[in-house]
This record gives sequence, C-alpha cells and structure tokens, in this order.
Amino acid sequence: MVFFCTHPYLPTPTFVPKPHNLHLRSLFCLQSPIEPSSSSPSPTHSITTNNYNHLIQSLCSQGNLTQAFKLLPREASPTQRTFESLILACTRHNATSYAPAIDRRLSAADGLHHDPFLSTKLIEMYSHFSALDDARNVFDRTPQKTIFVWNALLKAIVVVSNDGEEALSLFTDMGGKGVHFDSFSYSYVLKACLASSLHVSVVLRRVRQIHGHVLRVGFDSRVHAATTLVDSYAKIGRVACARRVFDKMPHRNVVSWSAMIACYAKNGRHLDALAIFRDMMRDSETAPNSVTMVSVLQACAGLSALSQGKLMHGYVLRRGFYATVSVVNALIAMYIKCGSLDAGRRVFATMIVPRNVVSWNSLISGYGVHGFGKEAIQVFEEMISVGISPSPVTFVSILGACSHGGLVEEGRRLFDSMLKEHNLIPQSEQYASLVDLLGRAGQLDEATKVIEGMNIEPGPTVWGSLLGACRIHGNIELAERACSHLFELEPWNAGNYILLADIYAAAKLWEEVSRVKKLLEARGLQKLVGCSWIEVKKNLYSFASVDELNPQIEQVHALLTELVKEVREMGYVPNTKVVLYDLEQKEKEKIVLGHSEKLALAFGIISSQKGEVIRITKNLRLCEDCHSLTKFISKYTKREILVRDVNRFHHFRDGMCSCMEYW
Ligand SMILES: [Zn+2]
Ligand SMILES: [Zn+2]
Repeated sequence: MVFFCTHPYLPTPTFVPKPHNLHLRSLFCLQSPIEPSSSSPSPTHSITTNNYNHLIQSLCSQGNLTQAFKLLPREASPTQRTFESLILACTRHNATSYAPAIDRRLSAADGLHHDPFLSTKLIEMYSHFSALDDARNVFDRTPQKTIFVWNALLKAIVVVSNDGEEALSLFTDMGGKGVHFDSFSYSYVLKACLASSLHVSVVLRRVRQIHGHVLRVGFDSRVHAATTLVDSYAKIGRVACARRVFDKMPHRNVVSWSAMIACYAKNGRHLDALAIFRDMMRDSETAPNSVTMVSVLQACAGLSALSQGKLMHGYVLRRGFYATVSVVNALIAMYIKCGSLDAGRRVFATMIVPRNVVSWNSLISGYGVHGFGKEAIQVFEEMISVGISPSPVTFVSILGACSHGGLVEEGRRLFDSMLKEHNLIPQSEQYASLVDLLGRAGQLDEATKVIEGMNIEPGPTVWGSLLGACRIHGNIELAERACSHLFELEPWNAGNYILLADIYAAAKLWEEVSRVKKLLEARGLQKLVGCSWIEVKKNLYSFASVDELNPQIEQVHALLTELVKEVREMGYVPNTKVVLYDLEQKEKEKIVLGHSEKLALAFGIISSQKGEVIRITKNLRLCEDCHSLTKFISKYTKREILVRDVNRFHHFRDGMCSCMEYW
C-alpha cells in the first residue's frame, strides 16, 4: 500500500474540537435557522465559515457523510482541507453517489477547481471506485500536473484497468514532458510491465529498460525503488537479477529482506530462502515481520523441512506472531506440507485468532493431498456450518481432495453447488479441477464434454489437467488436442512439451518424441531438472538426478544397487517407459535408477535410525518406477516412507502406498 505525502503547503489544523463538543456543535448548527451569508464578507461570516469548514471536516471523520454534504452548500468558501476530508470520507465509505456533489462544488470553488493536491485525491478516489474515465477527466482538467497528479493516474490505470500498455504509454508521456519521476512512478510502471499480458521475454526487456532508467537517475540506492525491482524480477522468475539488485542495495529494510526471501520461496529456491533469512537474522538492524515469516514458513513447507519448520514455529510463538492470521495459516500449511497432518490440525484447532477462509482452505487441501477425500468434505461442510463462505480457492481445494480420493460423484455435486448454493461463478481454475477429477478417474469423454460446455474460454490450467489425464490413460489424440491449445497459451511452459513427449514415448512413437524435443529446443526451453530433498538430523540434503557432489554418493549408489537386487526377487520389475530415449533396456534401467528420489531414499536409509519415518520431497510428479521401487523398499526394509511430489503425498508402508495407485 502506498500513500502520497501530504503537500508541504497544507496548513496544519489549529482547531481540533473534542468529540463530545463536536456532537453538540453539529446539532446546534444544523438546527440553527441562521443561514450563513454568501454576500460580502463580514466578521460573523468568517467565524461561521470556519465553523462550517471544521464541522464538515469533523462530520467526515465521524463518517457522517449525509450531514456533511447537507452542510456543504451552506459553506461559502470550503477550504482545501474540507474538500480533502470529503474526498477521503467518500473513498473510505465507498460513497460513489456523493462524488458528483464534490465535483460540482469544486468547480464553483475559487482557485480549488484546478488545485493539484485535490486533483490527486480525486483521482485516487475515482480509482478506488474503479471509475477510470472520471479519474482521467480530473487529470485532463488539472493544468499544473505535479508528480503526484501523474502518479495518481498511473497507479489508477495499473490498478483499475490492469492495462500495462496504457500505463507504459503514460509513463513515456511523462518522460517526454520532462516530469521528474520519483520512486513511486518507478514502482507503478514496473507493476504495469508485469500486468501486460505479453510474452515473458518482452516483459523482461521492459523491466530491464526501467531498471536502466532507475540506475541512470541513481534511484537504485533508494530502498523503495530497489525493493520494487527485486519484487518485479522475482515475479518473472529472474531470481539472479533480483539478487544482484538486492546485493547492491546500500540500505535494506524489512520489506527488502522479505521481498528477497519471498523471491526465493516463490521460485522454488527454498534453501536459498532459508539462507537469506539467516543473513537477515544476523543483520541487527532489521527484525522479521509477519510477511517475512509467511515466506519463511512457505520455504520450510516447500522443502518438507519439518525440523526447520518447528524451529520457526517456536520463533513465531516467541515473537508474538501467533495473533496474525496469515502467519498461523502459513504454519498450518507448513505442517501439512511437511507431512504432519496432525500437527497442522492441532494448530488449526488451537488458533487464538478467528479462522478465516484461508485457514479452512489449508485444512481442506491438507486432507486432500494426504488422500483423505471424505474427511476433506466433512471439513468443508463444517466450515459452511460455522458461517464461513467458501472462496473460489476452497473449491479448488475440495475438488482436488475429491480428485485424489477418486470421489467423482461428490466432486461433481460440489462443483454444481458452487453457483447454485454459493453464488460463485466457476472460473478456469475450478473447471481445471473438475477436468482433473474426471480425467484421473478415466472419464476422458466426460472431461472433454465439460471443456466444450464451458461458457468462458478454457485457460491453460484446464487444458493442462486434460493433458495430465491423457498421460495417465495414454490417450494420444486428446493429448495432441490439449497441446495445440497449450503451446499457444503458454509457449514457455516446458512441462507441457515434456508431458506430450512422455505420452509419445510410452506409445513408442520415437519420431514424435524427437519432434517435440526439437520444438522444445527451438523455443529455447529447458526441461525442469528433477530434484529431491530429504531432511536428516535437522539438515537438508538435495539430490539432482546426476549428483556427484554428495560425499556419500558412492555409498548411496552401492546401497541402491543392492536393494534393487533384493527386491527384484520380491517381484520388482523396473518400469522404463518414462525414459524419453530409444535405448537398450539396460541403459534405460540405469537412467531410472539415477532418479533423484531414489538417491534421496537410499541416503535416507543410510543416515537415519530404524523406525524413523523417511520424508522426501520431489519437485516433479513421482514417476511410476520410483513409486513401484519405493513400495518394495518399504516392505523390504520395514520402513515408513513419506514422499511428497508436486501433486500429493504418498505414504509407503509395508509394500503399499496410500495413493492406491491414484496420482
Ligand atoms: Zn523416478
Ligand atoms: Zn503413491
């Protein structure tokens, strides 16, 4: 949230009536039969004028807009402060109907009609009402356009119309007219760059241009401008660029630190997020706030780093963040994502702040990712019964829970209730969940019918769900259809190309596989490298598919080979259909044996005590071969193994998985 500085020429109030006097005074004035004279000034006139101005201001601060506007015509010379009070009160109370009255009265007020300070406030008010045309009118009629006036319109365009192009053209206009930008101008124009629905490379080029601008005027040393740059690079996934800006900042405040931590957390660089949080803790000048803690907890959740998460829980308690609902919600999500549904439920049950819909959503999706679909529905119903209205995200969570639990009928019913019972119009995200629910259950025709019946344009998530289902059920024709949309809607998403290649590979269509791979290369995209994490004795270890850095890697490989030999006798057969190369079976087996989650699993067995649960996190979907091998290993080693992949939890015990082959 950004507030404009008050203008220096604004008079500071000299008269501040006490509230109880105010009330009497307003009563008195309203009942007074004496109208203030609008003719020649007289001593009494100036006193009355003052009274009305102050009265209107006080009524505004009390939120009594009706009386304030009744008095306005009686005041011959409303002051700048009076207008400001009226505008702010209208904004605060969403009183759109009074806006024309302010405009009318302003046009009759001497000297104030074109006052840049009031124009700024008016533009902000209209922006709050989403009335962009009115905001533009005020802007156009203001002859002396200060930086505040320009910034107000710039912000209005970004916030209301979300039109990056228009905001950028206004910014160019500002430059052309020689306006001296301030930190806020850069902050809004950067938001405008991100708002434009352009290809990410174009957005990056624009952000870089603005960055160059910021450097030329020396604003990179200003906390606000630099922090916004960090944030912008973070949003387009340019973590290294964000870090460079951050490292060069001479001063950092808690917002800058939090932006950098959030940048790492949101871009999947959870280890780095925790590392920079530790740097922040060493910096004695800044203390983390609730926003920082939310990102840090997200990073712990991203890594399934339960011990780290518990440490953070302690810190949250010591620092009193327990009363901030966003932090407690992040705690619930952290425990659930770390595989500890019970701890998440306990935090939920013992909340001292009122639970909001996000708290409930966390619990619902928690039951969902652990495969407890029926329990998720129970929590959903409990939420409704205590009077919390579900949000669109709630439906994504509950439909996801139904999908993981294979509860097709219940899911359909809940989807229908969205509009009928909760007055929420399903959007792409909820349609995507429904398509996923039907698709996973093998009802691909039904899923296609849902897409065809949508009254909005299906977004990439919808086609993505269909593609995912095609992968499970090996439907090439539908997969190609989904991809024809996906390659157009999100050409930069390497995951879609890989999925299609997977589907072709499973059908042994090697020519098609290489065609997709060429397309991937031509577009300069890279396959997301598979990576797994494991927490052992409060330390986090990450494994990539090719990992020679871990000092125990030889031991890990030896154990894996040994284990595979043993479980082959129990019936394990390597499943190599995920290998996207037309190779000899032996070579393929070698490739799947090198999968990061297998390395993490073997490392977990070596480094933990018998009886301890092994917890692994994988950044992609768990492949069929790793799934099958883990089942056998859980039986052979008599260990409980918890794996979180990008979709859900797999709880392996005694040769079985909680997902019942449904993921
Ligand atoms: Zn695998
Ligand atoms: Zn499973």
